Amino acid sequence: MFPNLINKLKPQTKTIQLARTFLKSFKTQTNFDTIIIGAGSIGVPTAMELQEAGLKVLVLDKRASPGQGDNKRALGGIRATHSNASKIISGLRSLKIFSQWKEKHGFDIEWKKGGYLFPVYREAEEKALKSILPFQKSFGMEIDFISADRVKELVPGISEEGLRGGTWSPNDGSASPMLSSLGFYKYATELGAQFHFKEEVIEFIRDSHGTLTGVKTTQGKYHAPIIIDAAGAASPKLMKQIGLELPVEPDSHEAGITAPVQRLFSPMVIDMRPTKGSKNCYFYQNYHGQIIFCYTPDPVIKGLDREETSTFLPHVAKRMIKVLPRLANLRVRRTWRGLYPMTPDGHPLLGWNKEVKGLFTATGMCGQGFLLGPGYATAIRSAITQNEIEKDDDVILSAADPHRTFKGTEIFK
Ligand SMILES: Cc1cc2nc3c(=O)[nH]c(=O)nc-3n(C[C@H](O)[C@H](O)[C@H](O)COP(=O)(O)OP(=O)(O)OC[C@H]3O[C@@H](n4cnc5c(N)ncnc54)[C@H](O)[C@@H]3O)c2cc1C
Repeated sequence: MFPNLINKLKPQTKTIQLARTFLKSFKTQTNFDTIIIGAGSIGVPTAMELQEAGLKVLVLDKRASPGQGDNKRALGGIRATHSNASKIISGLRSLKIFSQWKEKHGFDIEWKKGGYLFPVYREAEEKALKSILPFQKSFGMEIDFISADRVKELVPGISEEGLRGGTWSPNDGSASPMLSSLGFYKYATELGAQFHFKEEVIEFIRDSHGTLTGVKTTQGKYHAPIIIDAAGAASPKLMKQIGLELPVEPDSHEAGITAPVQRLFSPMVIDMRPTKGSKNCYFYQNYHGQIIFCYTPDPVIKGLDREETSTFLPHVAKRMIKVLPRLANLRVRRTWRGLYPMTPDGHPLLGWNKEVKGLFTATGMCGQGFLLGPGYATAIRSAITQNEIEKDDDVILSAADPHRTFKGTEIFK
């Protein structure tokens, strides 16, 4: 009876041993086609694109799960309403990915097509917004300047004093930044991409010619001919290690969220009027009925501080109530602060580094990394695989060339 039992067990033991060997080799795999530093707004969609293109991808992040850096501090607004070609094209690509995600992948990222509304109270803003409409429309965008009455329909209760109308783009929307990066991560891992969390990149490995060939982390060494810097606000410090001075200077922004209430309005509302202390203010009601809000501080607050301030909430509350008085009695659940990794012209740095071979830069996402990340990732895929470089990819990549001279800025920075 005993030998019989062994015979019965043997095949199972063999299977277990094989599985162990496989798992061990999987765990200790150290050679990849691409290593991405950072599982954030740009790192995760880039992993998904590159793995889909057939590359063997490893993503390393010091945090515990995807999207836990500045990605999770984003409001969740997604728009193609920009004032330059590169961002309009990237925004349209992103909108397609976000809006079709649930249908294509069966995973709900809380996409909501609420539109973007820029209500206008001053002649100067009306002129500026109207002047770029033909350009925006030339990309096939549905966008128009609407009457004050239509603005009032879209946002019932909006302040009417001096209201002249507004720019309205109904196909823009919002999604949850956390669920989006989780959705992209799940898809990337299904395709075979590997993610190592709680693993910080601490050093770079270079060959005798100075070409990057790998990274050293808190846990081990990994090798790849392509290393992608997608470390967000941490990029400048990280790149200093290999002698690079990145034109990326983070500045901080605060945001907040209320308790859920019944549906009051659908669009992201952007009040472009500067006041003392802030350049603008914007808010929307999310999938769950919570109002999420933010403003651009004036002057900008440079640095890496992510501690909330006591001045943000009273200031933003006053601004929001001025635009939409019925928000006065909402309960604020929490506020937070995060970073925009800013470049001098508001465009990111996407491309090969000319000084350090093997390094591809995907950083400097400014205030739009969440919404433009998936669109930019499609252009990164083209740049790296060299397969499908199209006219539109070139428009994105040339505006984001890491070696460009920085001049000009845009209306919707
Ligand atoms: C208040 C606020 C509101 C915002 N609202 C919006 C919005 O509505 N829409 C929008 O598009 N954008 C918004 N943004 C901007 C957006 O959050 C950023 O542009 C975006 O998250 C930056 O993406 P990233 O991938 O470069 O950085 P991150 O998302 O921060 O990712 C970088 C990752 O790199 C990892 N990392 C860094 N160093 C290392 C290392 N040495 N080793 C391993 N891992 C490392 C980090 O842990 C992190 O996960 C907002 C930002 C703030 C602060």
